[in-house]
Amino acid sequence: MKRREFIIGAAALGGTTLLACAESRPEPAGNKELLDVQKDWKQFLPEDAGLSLSTEPVELSEQEWRERLTPAQFDVLREEGTERPSSSPLDTEKRAGIFACAGCGLPLFSSEMKFDSGTGWPSFFTAIPGHSETKTDFKLVWPRKEYHCLRCGGHQGHIFKDGPEPTGERWCNNGVALKFYPV
Ligand SMILES: [Zn+2]
Repeated sequence: MKRREFIIGAAALGGTTLLACAESRPEPAGNKELLDVQKDWKQFLPEDAGLSLSTEPVELSEQEWRERLTPAQFDVLREEGTERPSSSPLDTEKRAGIFACAGCGLPLFSSEMKFDSGTGWPSFFTAIPGHSETKTDFKLVWPRKEYHCLRCGGHQGHIFKDGPEPTGERWCNNGVALKFYPV
Protein backbone atom coordinates (compact mmCIF):
# COMPACT_ATOMS: atom_id res chain seq x y z
CA MET A 1 0.00 0.00 0.00
CA LYS A 2 1.25 3.46 -0.80
CA ARG A 3 2.10 5.69 2.13
CA ARG A 4 -0.54 8.30 1.24
CA GLU A 5 -3.26 5.65 0.99
CA PHE A 6 -2.21 4.27 4.33
CA ILE A 7 -2.44 7.66 6.01
CA ILE A 8 -5.89 8.34 4.52
CA GLY A 9 -7.05 4.84 5.48
CA ALA A 10 -5.78 5.25 9.02
CA ALA A 11 -7.46 8.66 9.31
CA ALA A 12 -10.78 7.21 8.14
CA LEU A 13 -10.47 4.42 10.67
CA GLY A 14 -9.70 6.94 13.41
CA GLY A 15 -12.82 8.89 12.46
CA THR A 16 -14.99 5.79 12.80
CA THR A 17 -13.54 5.01 16.20
CA LEU A 18 -14.14 8.54 17.35
CA LEU A 19 -17.78 8.42 16.28
CA ALA A 20 -18.38 5.09 17.96
CA CYS A 21 -16.70 6.04 21.20
CA ALA A 22 -17.28 9.78 21.37
CA GLU A 23 -18.89 9.72 24.78
CA SER A 24 -16.66 7.28 26.58
CA ARG A 25 -13.20 8.15 25.33
CA PRO A 26 -11.13 11.31 24.98
CA GLU A 27 -10.36 12.41 21.45
CA PRO A 28 -7.45 10.38 20.07
CA ALA A 29 -4.24 12.33 19.69
CA GLY A 30 -4.27 11.22 16.06
CA ASN A 31 -1.84 9.90 13.57
CA LYS A 32 0.02 13.16 13.09
CA GLU A 33 1.44 12.94 16.57
CA LEU A 34 2.47 9.35 15.97
CA LEU A 35 4.19 10.22 12.73
CA ASP A 36 6.04 13.10 14.41
CA VAL A 37 7.27 10.79 17.16
CA GLN A 38 8.47 8.27 14.60
CA LYS A 39 10.05 10.94 12.41
CA ASP A 40 11.74 13.00 15.12
CA TRP A 41 13.46 10.20 17.06
CA LYS A 42 16.94 11.22 15.90
CA GLN A 43 16.77 14.37 18.00
CA PHE A 44 17.11 12.06 21.02
CA LEU A 45 20.22 10.37 19.61
CA PRO A 46 23.30 11.48 21.60
CA GLU A 47 26.01 12.48 19.13
CA ASP A 48 28.81 11.04 21.24
CA ALA A 49 27.17 7.62 21.75
CA GLY A 50 28.69 6.32 18.53
CA LEU A 51 25.62 4.25 17.66
CA SER A 52 25.53 2.91 14.10
CA LEU A 53 22.21 3.14 12.28
CA SER A 54 23.14 0.46 9.74
CA THR A 55 20.69 -2.43 9.53
CA GLU A 56 23.22 -4.73 7.87
CA PRO A 57 22.76 -8.07 9.67
CA VAL A 58 25.07 -8.88 12.58
CA GLU A 59 25.55 -12.64 12.70
CA LEU A 60 27.61 -14.17 15.50
CA SER A 61 27.97 -17.76 16.67
CA GLU A 62 26.36 -18.84 19.94
CA GLN A 63 29.82 -18.82 21.56
CA GLU A 64 30.47 -15.26 20.35
CA TRP A 65 27.12 -14.10 21.73
CA ARG A 66 27.88 -15.74 25.07
CA GLU A 67 31.15 -13.82 25.21
CA ARG A 68 29.54 -10.53 24.26
CA LEU A 69 26.46 -10.71 26.52
CA THR A 70 25.83 -11.26 30.21
CA PRO A 71 23.97 -14.51 31.03
CA ALA A 72 20.75 -12.52 31.66
CA GLN A 73 21.09 -10.69 28.33
CA PHE A 74 21.81 -13.96 26.52
CA ASP A 75 18.71 -15.60 28.02
CA VAL A 76 16.41 -12.86 26.71
CA LEU A 77 18.09 -11.81 23.46
CA ARG A 78 19.17 -15.21 22.14
CA GLU A 79 16.74 -17.61 23.86
CA GLU A 80 13.59 -15.45 24.05
CA GLY A 81 13.53 -15.53 27.85
CA THR A 82 11.54 -13.03 29.94
CA GLU A 83 13.05 -11.05 32.81
CA ARG A 84 11.32 -10.72 36.19
CA PRO A 85 9.00 -7.66 36.25
CA SER A 86 10.42 -4.57 37.98
CA SER A 87 13.91 -6.04 37.78
CA SER A 88 15.24 -3.50 35.28
CA PRO A 89 16.15 0.09 36.20
CA LEU A 90 15.02 1.06 32.68
CA ASP A 91 11.40 0.46 33.74
CA THR A 92 11.51 3.76 35.63
CA GLU A 93 13.94 5.59 33.33
CA LYS A 94 12.43 9.01 32.56
CA ARG A 95 15.29 10.95 30.97
CA ALA A 96 15.33 11.94 27.31
CA GLY A 97 17.39 9.69 25.10
CA ILE A 98 17.53 6.53 23.05
CA PHE A 99 16.88 2.92 24.00
CA ALA A 100 19.12 0.71 21.84
CA CYS A 101 19.45 -3.06 21.45
CA ALA A 102 21.84 -4.40 24.12
CA GLY A 103 23.09 -6.95 21.61
CA CYS A 104 24.22 -4.71 18.77
CA GLY A 105 23.45 -1.06 19.67
CA LEU A 106 20.77 -0.43 17.03
CA PRO A 107 18.39 2.31 18.31
CA LEU A 108 14.91 0.80 18.83
CA PHE A 109 12.95 3.46 20.77
CA SER A 110 13.18 7.14 21.70
CA SER A 111 12.19 8.35 25.16
CA GLU A 112 9.16 10.05 23.52
CA MET A 113 7.73 6.61 22.72
CA LYS A 114 7.86 5.39 26.34
CA PHE A 115 4.99 5.31 28.81
CA ASP A 116 4.45 3.90 32.29
CA SER A 117 2.33 0.77 31.82
CA GLY A 118 2.51 -0.25 35.49
CA THR A 119 3.53 -3.78 34.44
CA GLY A 120 7.12 -3.60 35.68
CA TRP A 121 8.55 -3.78 32.15
CA PRO A 122 9.71 -0.80 30.07
CA SER A 123 6.81 -0.08 27.72
CA PHE A 124 6.49 1.89 24.49
CA PHE A 125 3.49 2.79 22.31
CA THR A 126 5.49 2.53 19.09
CA ALA A 127 9.03 1.88 17.87
CA ILE A 128 11.57 3.47 15.55
CA PRO A 129 10.36 2.49 12.05
CA GLY A 130 12.37 -0.13 10.23
CA HIS A 131 14.63 -1.14 13.14
CA SER A 132 12.66 -4.13 14.42
CA GLU A 133 10.48 -6.84 12.95
CA THR A 134 7.76 -9.07 14.33
CA LYS A 135 6.74 -12.69 14.26
CA THR A 136 4.00 -14.68 15.98
CA ASP A 137 5.10 -16.93 18.82
CA PHE A 138 3.06 -19.82 20.22
CA LYS A 139 4.97 -20.40 23.45
CA LEU A 140 1.86 -19.82 25.54
CA VAL A 141 -1.62 -21.15 24.82
CA TRP A 142 -2.57 -18.04 22.85
CA PRO A 143 -0.46 -16.61 20.02
CA ARG A 144 1.56 -13.50 20.83
CA LYS A 145 3.30 -11.02 18.58
CA GLU A 146 7.02 -11.17 19.32
CA TYR A 147 9.42 -8.50 18.08
CA HIS A 148 13.17 -8.50 17.68
CA CYS A 149 16.03 -6.27 16.60
CA LEU A 150 16.28 -6.15 12.82
CA ARG A 151 20.09 -6.06 12.82
CA CYS A 152 21.07 -8.88 15.22
CA GLY A 153 17.75 -10.74 15.54
CA GLY A 154 17.86 -10.35 19.34
CA HIS A 155 14.48 -10.92 21.02
CA GLN A 156 13.18 -7.79 22.77
CA GLY A 157 9.58 -8.41 23.87
CA HIS A 158 5.94 -8.70 22.78
CA ILE A 159 3.32 -6.29 21.41
CA PHE A 160 -0.07 -6.15 23.14
CA LYS A 161 -3.20 -4.25 22.12
CA ASP A 162 -3.89 -2.53 25.46
CA GLY A 163 -1.60 0.47 25.06
CA PRO A 164 -2.43 4.20 25.03
CA GLU A 165 -3.30 6.47 22.11
CA PRO A 166 -2.32 7.17 19.42
CA THR A 167 -1.54 3.51 18.57
CA GLY A 168 -3.30 1.49 21.26
CA GLU A 169 -0.19 -0.69 21.30
CA ARG A 170 2.00 -1.71 24.24
CA TRP A 171 5.48 -2.81 23.23
CA CYS A 172 6.42 -4.70 26.39
CA ASN A 173 10.21 -4.82 26.43
CA ASN A 174 12.72 -6.67 28.56
CA GLY A 175 14.89 -3.95 30.12
CA VAL A 176 17.95 -6.21 30.08
CA ALA A 177 17.71 -6.41 26.28
CA LEU A 178 18.07 -2.62 26.01
CA LYS A 179 20.77 -0.08 26.78
CA PHE A 180 19.80 3.53 27.47
CA TYR A 181 21.75 6.47 26.07
CA PRO A 182 20.68 9.81 27.61
CA VAL A 183 20.79 12.73 25.20
ZN1 LIG B 1 20.37 -5.87 17.93
